Amino acid sequence: MDVEIWTADFVNLGDGLRASWGILVDGKRVVNAAAVDELRGRYPQLPLVNKGKYLGIPFVNAHTHLDLSNFETFHGDFADFIKFVVAGREKRGLEAVRAVADSIPQNTLGDIVANDERVMDWWLRESPYDGVAYWEVLGVYPPAKEEEYLKRTKELLLRWKTLQRSSGPRLGVSPHSPYSLTPSLMRSIVEFSTAEGLPLQIHAAESPAEREYFLRRRGPLLEFFESLGLPKDIHPVGLTPIAYLSQAGALRSGASLVHGVQVDETDVSIIADSGVTVISCPRSNLNLNAGLPPYHLYLQSGVMLALGSDSLASAETLNVKDDIAALEDAGVPLRNALQAASSNGYAALGLTSPRIVAGTDAKLVEFL
Ligand SMILES: [Zn+2]
Repeated sequence: MDVEIWTADFVNLGDGLRASWGILVDGKRVVNAAAVDELRGRYPQLPLVNKGKYLGIPFVNAHTHLDLSNFETFHGDFADFIKFVVAGREKRGLEAVRAVADSIPQNTLGDIVANDERVMDWWLRESPYDGVAYWEVLGVYPPAKEEEYLKRTKELLLRWKTLQRSSGPRLGVSPHSPYSLTPSLMRSIVEFSTAEGLPLQIHAAESPAEREYFLRRRGPLLEFFESLGLPKDIHPVGLTPIAYLSQAGALRSGASLVHGVQVDETDVSIIADSGVTVISCPRSNLNLNAGLPPYHLYLQSGVMLALGSDSLASAETLNVKDDIAALEDAGVPLRNALQAASSNGYAALGLTSPRIVAGTDAKLVEFL
């Protein structure tokens, strides 16, 4: 590698995006970073290489389900997708994770781990990836069974807490979504994770069916619950999913919401006031006919947006660069899309952003 000045439309050294910026690279390492004009003035003999739209800290895939990697990508309505995942549950687990574990494009992930305790052991003991592995909490049980399930969940989380490596991935908790846990289980798990300092990630306001269920207690989600023989009155009626989560205390520091598609202005202002990040998975939303989040409203309201691919069951790849392209297609300014995939991704997972400084290995610099 030669000594060169690298530039791009936007440069992120770990402290936000800059235009007209560049870095000097000596073949192996970063030597300096400054405004492009300054670098060219100081080193007029060096070639200036334009790397494209972005150069900087690595992108983050803030929402995945590696354990769904053995599914075909589904196209269709959300309630049918839930049935599709439930029907294929045998395909989930550590084998599915291992099938993709050598080929994930980003190194920092927010991954949801469901059912298979071996997957969490893999994450905490040997995964080459960084980020947060969130243990999924899910289910509607009769009270005595719920208590037993909660006890077991707490025991697991306390054991896994001790397995975290000093520089490895962190443990988190994912109460799956407003509709898939009882209010008492949601509240208990939020309280426990807060007391234990564990980050939260929650699917919320994903589909029209979810919103219809919460506001009016009807629609395909209710029909699905009825087909499982569940009671009709598990959740309060008349609140949006976001208002419901806010009342449950779930929109607290260290929490992130996944999707945030079916929201109104009041929901967006609740999210903005709470300071939680919204992780958007645009390709997944389009494949599941969920619509797309009101990106401009979020940006105007000061909500921090991050990006995730979601699983291979609802997106064709695990590469968050494809979600940057989807945001651009949806009319989100490139700067905001790049900010979502870089700095905001680390913030969504509660991680400190890496920095590109003199001495940083040039191989660690990301391009788009
Ligand atoms: Zn998901």
